[in-house]
Amino acid sequence: APAFNYGEALQKSIWFYDAQRSGDLPADNRVNWRGGSALSDGADVGLDLSGGFYDAGDHVKFGLPFAASMTMLAWGAVENRGAYEDSGQLRHLLANLKWGTDWIIKAHPSPNVVYGQVGAGDDDHKWWGAAEVMQMARPSYKVDASCPGSDLAGEYAAAMAASSMVFRRSDPTYADTLLAHARQLYSFADTHRGKYSSCITDAAKFYNSHSGYQDELVWGAIWLHRATGDAAYLAKAKAEYPKLSTEPQSTTRSYRWTIAWDDKSYGAYALMAKLTGEQQYVDDTNRWLDYWTTGYQGNRVRYSPGGQAVLDTWGSLRYAANTAFVALTHADWLRATDPARATTYHDFGVRQVNYALGDNPRKSSFVVGFGANPPRNPHHRTAHGAWADTMREPATSRHVLYGALVGGPSTNNDAHTDDRTDYIANEVALDYNAGFTGALARLHAEYGGTPLADFPVAETPDGPELTVQASVNQSAPGFTEVKSFILNKSAWPARAFTGSLRYYFTLDGATTPDQITVTTNYNQCGTPSAPRQHSGRVYYVDVPCPGVYPGGQSAHRHEVQFRITSTGTWDPADDWSHEGLGSGNTVAQTDRLTLVQDGAVLWGREP
Ligand code: BGC
Ligand code: CA
Repeated sequence: APAFNYGEALQKSIWFYDAQRSGDLPADNRVNWRGGSALSDGADVGLDLSGGFYDAGDHVKFGLPFAASMTMLAWGAVENRGAYEDSGQLRHLLANLKWGTDWIIKAHPSPNVVYGQVGAGDDDHKWWGAAEVMQMARPSYKVDASCPGSDLAGEYAAAMAASSMVFRRSDPTYADTLLAHARQLYSFADTHRGKYSSCITDAAKFYNSHSGYQDELVWGAIWLHRATGDAAYLAKAKAEYPKLSTEPQSTTRSYRWTIAWDDKSYGAYALMAKLTGEQQYVDDTNRWLDYWTTGYQGNRVRYSPGGQAVLDTWGSLRYAANTAFVALTHADWLRATDPARATTYHDFGVRQVNYALGDNPRKSSFVVGFGANPPRNPHHRTAHGAWADTMREPATSRHVLYGALVGGPSTNNDAHTDDRTDYIANEVALDYNAGFTGALARLHAEYGGTPLADFPVAETPDGPELTVQASVNQSAPGFTEVKSFILNKSAWPARAFTGSLRYYFTLDGATTPDQITVTTNYNQCGTPSAPRQHSGRVYYVDVPCPGVYPGGQSAHRHEVQFRITSTGTWDPADDWSHEGLGSGNTVAQTDRLTLVQDGAVLWGREP
């Protein structure tokens, strides 16, 4: 029997991409704690660059790892379409792929212009809150003929070509559109050579193009060849291949790393082997996968006692998962000619995926919301549901980020702590789940597994999202001064409050409204209204207080101290909103002051 329910794992792994969406969400949005966000991306350059995906636990749209993830997702579907169909997940995968390729279309407004990032890394990272209520500027960055990025454009070309293969059957027109972009993107990459992170310098700090662009030139040509059948692209891939990197001081093709957002060489080895059957490509692939399994000339990736192949500190499981996917794919092709190696690579792929799903010394899943003792507190701003711009409050994340593969052990010791502050070991990312998703589809094809019938279940808010706290700050026979706070801890989805606070009181005796004055003392809100009639002798003052949002200590909590003074008679004891108030600095939560927005009562009870 299969060790895990790969159908459920696949279902959740795809859903993770729903949760990473940026832009105006569609009506069939499957994540009830997400809303529209970053809707004016691109406005700084006169374009609509809204949409696409947030990179990780942050909200930058980083083009290179994003596009690399789309290519990997598409590759998984090209190889394992049947598994996506059988598990009922094809439409969800297609919807997410399209969410990505639609954005690439926007990011490629003319043949030699490619947007490769929206949002500035440091400005984004220094604030801890939900995407829906981001306030920082989000600059757009591009490459063009005067400052090109062959890695970026080559990867975009690969993503579009690979995705066109996935859409070909259901939407040939769209597939053709993607191919048209892919051809132009590739020609831009090839004609105007350069490293994108030398032009989009903000990316150099986060996703520097360490490996350069040679790998994307091969990779893009391979995918264009696969998508078009055009022999010229295969010839191009062959011509560029010999310039791929080699091990230091040798002519041996690099093998001590793996396919990841930066370096596609390893994916190119395996696809060239499969497409041509030529020995040099087979050897390059096998050498690299030997390094990951049995060792090559005594060199082998580090293994943990519990069986994880650990390449690097940051996001170790992502490297293992990406490698697992290509190992499984290559094994399928290799089986006919080299069954022994095929079995080694296949078993390696299964082992690494199972490790992530819970077959490890901790007997714990590394996938949020899946399996035994999974991570609950990944480094992820929107899923945390914070309100005070701090990672530490609340202790437990308010949302479950189903399907997200966390970074994993930072060395080969099988250790992991579910610590939100640890972005090395407990962050999630588009590229972490990409090869992983393909590997899960491959394992579903072999071992089966049934997706959950009732997934996703909409979350229920953990309490009122908007509240009021208030006290009697001062009172005298002729006036009442109320100290009040409007609190916004909204997270289903996070949203700004744009309405007003209302305080209800009774006009006593023969007092008329014009005998009432309203003044404020400390005021983080707006100017209160004159008394307005609610019904009969009950009146209210309306204090506009727009702009309270769950994005900081003071941002999520606005205070206003207002004083209602009467030159008539004034008896606060019979006032609706007076009941239950705290005293002085001790405020109490009260539902007898209301929060009203666009005519709807969002908090409290009217008299
Ligand atoms: C962000 C992470 C990022 C890390 C390193 C953190 O502030 O939240 O998304 O991986 O910085 O850049
Ligand atoms: Ca590269």
